[in-house]
Amino acid sequence: MEKRPWIDEQRRRQVPRLGLERLAVSESEARIAARELVSALAEEEREQLGVAYQRIRIGGQRTLWGSCSARGTLSFNWRLALAPLEVLDYVVVHELCHLRLPDHSPRFWRLVERRRPDWRQRREWLREHGPELLAFSPQD
Ligand SMILES: [Zn+2]
Repeated sequence: MEKRPWIDEQRRRQVPRLGLERLAVSESEARIAARELVSALAEEEREQLGVAYQRIRIGGQRTLWGSCSARGTLSFNWRLALAPLEVLDYVVVHELCHLRLPDHSPRFWRLVERRRPDWRQRREWLREHGPELLAFSPQD
């Protein structure tokens, strides 16, 4: 009872829950979906940006949504398949922009802005719901 005010305060601070159910999500299916969506979007955006990548990797890091190696391997978290499509799309575009500019300089963000003018809202979704999604583990 004496911890009640503290508990209430923590609850107020919690972001809206995504309502993901461990039993309802299959990681293997989500990985396939992530690969298909990421590949299709990357292929389309690659042409727009005039960049080339070597391959796409779907991973499950607890800390990372996407990354881009100097050798041109783009990695994406399979949990992006559980996020809204525009959020997944933002991460794909973000990593592809790194093939042009491998930093987070103002020039980089201008490039992202040119490709996705509403990128801030999409990143905001990740800030708000990302921790819950990264912590999520399905049953299988
Ligand atoms: Zn980045």
